[in-house]
Amino acid sequence: MKCFNCAADTNHKKYEIPICHSCETGLKLFTDDTIMRQKKEYKCSEKYSSYQDEIAHRIILLENDYLKKKIKLLHVLERLANFKE
Ligand SMILES: [Zn+2]
Repeated sequence: MKCFNCAADTNHKKYEIPICHSCETGLKLFTDDTIMRQKKEYKCSEKYSSYQDEIAHRIILLENDYLKKKIKLLHVLERLANFKE
């Protein structure tokens, strides 16, 4: 399979997403210490009862944003395919 980011051949996946080790390193994923510190310092709000709740909700927002952008781009491609020159 190919790394989603650089198209290098890879057998590595992270959360079901093919990604090579080089690109994964480039993501600079948070260390456990950093995550624990952020969890500890997290201030709950009316919207989120925990750090975990907020992160989970942020993933949903991210996916919604991705889908909106994808629909807009697919629409442009669809319209372009319909134009006759
Ligand atoms: Zn890569």
